[in-house]
Amino acid sequence: MDITEREIMNVIKEEFGEQAILLIDSLKNKTNVSEITLAEKFKKEMNEIRSQLYQLHNFNIAFFNKKKDKDGWYTYHWNIDLGRIKDFAVQKKKNALKNLKKQLKKEEGKIFYICKTGCARLDFVKASEYGFRCPECNEFLDYTENENKIECLKREISIMKD
Ligand SMILES: [Zn+2]
Repeated sequence: MDITEREIMNVIKEEFGEQAILLIDSLKNKTNVSEITLAEKFKKEMNEIRSQLYQLHNFNIAFFNKKKDKDGWYTYHWNIDLGRIKDFAVQKKKNALKNLKKQLKKEEGKIFYICKTGCARLDFVKASEYGFRCPECNEFLDYTENENKIECLKREISIMKD
């Protein structure tokens, strides 16, 4: 599956936050960047930097070498695996696409009913099980179009595939 640089960055931002993008940017094309350097650069506590990088580490995106300094403290020196970032983003994109297709399948060829107050949206089978009354508030359910929803899903799917 093709993925653009921009899509990769969007996935990372969604999963790990804006700061992760900045950290990745500071680590790419470099090896063993000390977290002290990173903390100074971003004017953050070292622990904060470490915990953010640990999140990336959990997905094998970031890895570290521990080094003992002269006072016996350990500092972490960080690296980033750009290939893993791409794999991670591709996997997320595949999952998102699969979800959209699943949603589309649920919508296509079906009739839906909604509650005016917005508490429920049920397909025909479910709605008839409840006697066309809302299971939450007992209001009568109204028929609702889902063509727009189907169009939206199709558009999202085609954008992703391009
Ligand atoms: Zn209701």
